[in-house]
Amino acid sequence: MQSLSALPPLRLNSRPVILVLLSVLGLLLVQASWRAYETARETSVMAEANALRLSAATAAYQQSLLDSTGQLLRVLGGISLARPHDAADCNAFLARQLESFPEYNNLAFADNNGVVWCSARALPDAAAIAIPIDAAQKKPRLFFSRHDAVFALPHFTLDGRLQGTVLAAFPVRHFFPVHDTSLPQGIEYGIIDGQGKLVAAYPSPALWDKPDATLTQILGTLRAGSVMRLSGPDGVKYFYAAEPVPGAAAELKLIVRLPTEPSHLAPLGLLLAMALMGSALVWWMLGRMVAARTAERLAKMDWRGLRPIQTWRHTVIALRDKLRTLGRGRAQHRGRNDTLALRAAYEKLQGAFSHNEARVRQLVQLDELSQRLQSCVSTAELASAVARCTAALFPGSSGALLLRTPDKTASALTWGSNYASATLHPQDCWALRMGRPYHSHGTSAAACAHVTTAGNYICLPLMARELLGVLHLAGLPDQDGTPIPWVATAIAERTAIALAAVRRQERLQLRAIRDALTGLFNRGFLEEALAIEQQRALRRGSPIGVMMLDVDHFKRFNDTFGHDAGDVLLRGIGGVLRHTVREGDMPCRYGGEEFVVILPGADLAGTRQRAEVLRAAIERWNPQHDGRSLGTVTVSIGVAAFPLHGNTWQAVLKTADQALYAAKHAGRNRVLTPVESAAVPAIPRANSAASTHSSRGSAYAE
Ligand code: GH3
Ligand code: MG
Ligand code: MG
Repeated sequence: MQSLSALPPLRLNSRPVILVLLSVLGLLLVQASWRAYETARETSVMAEANALRLSAATAAYQQSLLDSTGQLLRVLGGISLARPHDAADCNAFLARQLESFPEYNNLAFADNNGVVWCSARALPDAAAIAIPIDAAQKKPRLFFSRHDAVFALPHFTLDGRLQGTVLAAFPVRHFFPVHDTSLPQGIEYGIIDGQGKLVAAYPSPALWDKPDATLTQILGTLRAGSVMRLSGPDGVKYFYAAEPVPGAAAELKLIVRLPTEPSHLAPLGLLLAMALMGSALVWWMLGRMVAARTAERLAKMDWRGLRPIQTWRHTVIALRDKLRTLGRGRAQHRGRNDTLALRAAYEKLQGAFSHNEARVRQLVQLDELSQRLQSCVSTAELASAVARCTAALFPGSSGALLLRTPDKTASALTWGSNYASATLHPQDCWALRMGRPYHSHGTSAAACAHVTTAGNYICLPLMARELLGVLHLAGLPDQDGTPIPWVATAIAERTAIALAAVRRQERLQLRAIRDALTGLFNRGFLEEALAIEQQRALRRGSPIGVMMLDVDHFKRFNDTFGHDAGDVLLRGIGGVLRHTVREGDMPCRYGGEEFVVILPGADLAGTRQRAEVLRAAIERWNPQHDGRSLGTVTVSIGVAAFPLHGNTWQAVLKTADQALYAAKHAGRNRVLTPVESAAVPAIPRANSAASTHSSRGSAYAE
């Protein structure tokens, strides 16, 4: 057997070396083209996912916009000044609201026919579109009008009657999260209707303007949450993703489109196939050669020649693995970059949402405040509603409502603080003096005189046609130089409107309980007051004195001096009554020239004494009219007391009435109590309300 060392050394000829080199080249080509193919595929998949995710994120953004706008519209709808004669006030009010919500183009109220009667800005776009009102609708409806997106919500009166719509318009651009610079480049937004017709677009409707019929048709059928790759009219391929538009009145679809990168997939595929085929051919030839050589070697038991080939093979495999790892690393790196950019975009969007959420929370509080303010009937209730709202919006804050009173001082209703002054002079408050907000940032600022401890506080004037007072808020979470929070201004706006309503109500109530001619309480008030006083007297076991007073021969005054002079006389008697009775006594005009005075806590003797003072005062009085003296006026007064003359105020009033007419019968200009009047025969009366009661007809006991 031949020794192996005796064999001649293996000499590789050039053919296999060239083949091996070709093979390596082929493999590198395969590797490179495969990597490029994978990267292109990844980019494409990523763009597709981006389109889908961005459409979903945009729809969520629009939903949040819808929610916050809904809250704003609800708050505005809750304002009770929505009456046409308040249009000028209403315009000014909405204009101030618009300053707090600069993202909106306009705010408006439309009546039941869709006619805008009040708006923050003149000639709102909203006026140009017909707004159908659906009274059952709870959320705002979205319309598009040229360059504006318009949200509309019906609003109702307190008793539930449809009053019209509240509208908020904003630029179409604002309907998309375009302010976010980290969004992928080239992203475009469109809103299409059910037929695929474009109703709004951003950034430019140019590319969407003339979509070909097929594209329109296809987009019309694009399902929500799905994505499609189509050529646009400009020849560029885009990914289109669709989502339904939240709150849209008609069927509207949001389309997000992203340009796809120019596709190298087809040429790359061809290159890859060619490279693969070349490599396969080289490997096949090499394989055949190696097989022949190996067989030859094996036959000769020569192993050494196999080593170089095996080494080459391992090197190629190792190289391929290395390249593959490298390629994957680069692809992953690129993917990670894309994902990071996308995440940053989402976080920014989320930031926008959370800003909106904070806004929504504030609007909910304002909404509640508006509702509570509407049902307030007194300034004390008003202050408690404002206190509750400010405590929720600015935890730890304190405040006061400084309300102007007719005598030009201001009364304070305070909460959450050791705010000392209960009344103040208008000169004490900078906001009251200047009629505009005053913001004190600390001790260095010139503090208002009504503030006990200087510091961080704001005073907001309460303006509704006139300066009604000031909302004072202290302990707000702001630093030097920060502006007055919009929500504080919004609270002041609402408070001023509600305050004006409460004041109006108070004036009306005053009118309802006062007699217009004399300014005394009227008969309705007298009866209510007597019923209340009766309950109180029963609880306390105290008496009520009642005097009934009638002008003597009043008809003669009218006949002699005229009806106007008669009125002057009645007004004058009202004045004498007001000035003669003590505080807590209630003088009322019972009707015609008859008056009743209620004296809570006074017994018969006390009431009789007061009646005598009154009678004497009127007798002394010298009434004048048109520079003429009307002569001496006298009155007759009947006096009775509860519970001495009856278990009910009606019975006591009737007794006083009978005593009065006994006084008339006895010669007028006198005061009679039942005991005194018992001596006088009772005179039945036909024309007096009190006289409808039957006469007691018996002797009176003192
Ligand atoms: P007596 O002393 O019996 O009370 O006589 P009198 O004239 O005061 O009584 P009478 O009831 O006959 O007349 C009351 C008059 O008061 C009749 C009515 O025209 C007049 N009168 C009632 N209300 C008003 C009013 O608001 N203004 C004026 N000027 N007159 C009134
Ligand atoms: Mg009379
Ligand atoms: Mg009379």
